[in-house]
Amino acid sequence: MGRAVEWHNTDLCGHPKKDGTPCGWVVAESRCPFHLTPEEKEAERLRKEEEAERERVRVAEDRAERRRGLIDILSVSCPHCEAPAAELCMNPTGKLQRGFHKARRQLADCDWPKEYELQSYAYDRPKEVPPPLDGDLRKVLDDPLTDRTAEMNAAYVKRKEADSERKLQELRRAAWLAAEPRDETVAAVSCPQCAAVPQAPCTGSVRKYRQVHLQRVDVAMAAEGSL
Ligand SMILES: [Zn+2]
Ligand SMILES: [Zn+2]
Ligand SMILES: [Zn+2]
Repeated sequence: MGRAVEWHNTDLCGHPKKDGTPCGWVVAESRCPFHLTPEEKEAERLRKEEEAERERVRVAEDRAERRRGLIDILSVSCPHCEAPAAELCMNPTGKLQRGFHKARRQLADCDWPKEYELQSYAYDRPKEVPPPLDGDLRKVLDDPLTDRTAEMNAAYVKRKEADSERKLQELRRAAWLAAEPRDETVAAVSCPQCAAVPQAPCTGSVRKYRQVHLQRVDVAMAAEGSL
């Protein structure tokens, strides 16, 4: 519609004013201070198109990631409210709820999403209508939601064991380090983390005690124990 009023005179700005008539700035002499050139408008249109495409991809990726999390959580029964796999958690009165109990998320080893919704609201995205609570979860998520409770229970126990072993080792290490000066003993072994040879300092920065990797402290501690 707007194009009809544009002049096909490339010396003048053809951008329509509020009343519909062309602007008429003599662009042959200096660029119009009020309006973009057709080339600039085209570049602006392309930029907006690309931005919209990037946003579309971000939303799709976000949704896919959320869907995977929901499938993980809904593939185990809830230790808290005893909702079976493929069913939502229940509140104390037995009504279906959108939120998942923490115990269920922990069992599924999936801390996110915390709610039965398919889109997060990062990047100021408008909130979409969440799936209905009484709908068919398998259909919404396009997944059979096979019950993996037994398998995930075993994995949960293993994670807990590894966790307490790690905590125990931390206590042992702290006690060993506190008992007497250990710098020389630790420097005498090589580091399994950064491959530093005996007497050479550790390099890299992850999880260190003073300037030494914790793994190196553990090696020194084990070596001393075996003497
Ligand atoms: Zn103009
Ligand atoms: Zn629950
Ligand atoms: Zn190291």
